[in-house]
Amino acid sequence: MELLSGKPVSERIDRFVRSAVNEDEVALSSFLIGADPSSIIYSRSKLRKGESLGIDVRVRDYPPDVGECRLIEDLDRDASDEHVSGIMIERPLPGGLSLDRLMERVPPAKDVEGLHPVNYGKLGLGSFRFIPPTPLGALLMLRHYGIETSGKDILVIGRSPNVGRALAQLLSMKRPWANATVTLAHSGTGDLARWVGRSDIIITAAGRPALVRGDMVRDGTVIIDLGINSTGDGSIVGDVDIPSMEGVDVRVTPTPGGTGPVTVSSMFLNVAVARTRELYGKLPETDRMITEIYGG
Ligand code: NAD
Repeated sequence: MELLSGKPVSERIDRFVRSAVNEDEVALSSFLIGADPSSIIYSRSKLRKGESLGIDVRVRDYPPDVGECRLIEDLDRDASDEHVSGIMIERPLPGGLSLDRLMERVPPAKDVEGLHPVNYGKLGLGSFRFIPPTPLGALLMLRHYGIETSGKDILVIGRSPNVGRALAQLLSMKRPWANATVTLAHSGTGDLARWVGRSDIIITAAGRPALVRGDMVRDGTVIIDLGINSTGDGSIVGDVDIPSMEGVDVRVTPTPGGTGPVTVSSMFLNVAVARTRELYGKLPETDRMITEIYGG
């Protein structure tokens, strides 16, 4: 087993973001409504990362009973603020708030999570403006480690729109970084082991510990583990049972230390993409891997 660390990948993305943002005044506005513990942790990690990248992260903090009118007012203000290049709404939202209605106030050019219906529709049509950060991070992991996808059999586990389903669409596109034959497995898949055992690459985002085990995979498989599961004792594990992979000929991302930091960096990459496209119409060509995916 070889572990594929996320650290060099997120460092590489961060270098690109710093050079793209340069000395510009760039802000990401993050709407945090209510007190969901994982959203608070994610928000804090974005604050730290933003600081290190020279991006001003403005966390808009609201009580769970904030009215939709107030949120819409603030979203509209950020929408017209020229320094705010990215707007994101942390999920889950407290009951009673409609994500769809709030998303409608985010201009597609600032929707750095790629979830506005216009952007998601564009992704399905193959002419995307933003790739949602988690799938983007998975693609960049594969590229960074030189893992060929073209002509390969890829199994994506998990069908949520922002992770698994978006990845399945992207990886089946006719692009140099995709062009794979994709199977999308989900909670209704009858015999997961059958699909795991016949795939060259597995990308799992099910949120189920030990879903993929060493006795299920074939030699040479690459596994990108997006799952984040808390163990109850304060630590986290992915969907892959790492101990069972000992002695198996696989390359796998560990959790922690794998895809998590790459997702956060990819979110900021989307902010940098939004900013540089807005200002210059194209990205700096400082990293071929990134310009290959997002266009020059
Ligand atoms: P979700 O709950 O919306 O989706 C989970 C998916 O897994 C569903 O589509 C379900 O059909 C599928 N699934 C559940 N049990 C299954 C099983 N036994 N076999 C096959 N498929 C099964 O969750 P999500 O938002 O897509 O997130 C999925 C996981 O990814 C979670 O652990 C989440 O914490 C993690 N996540 C990680 C990152 C990252 O940066 N690495 C980012 C976002 C989400």
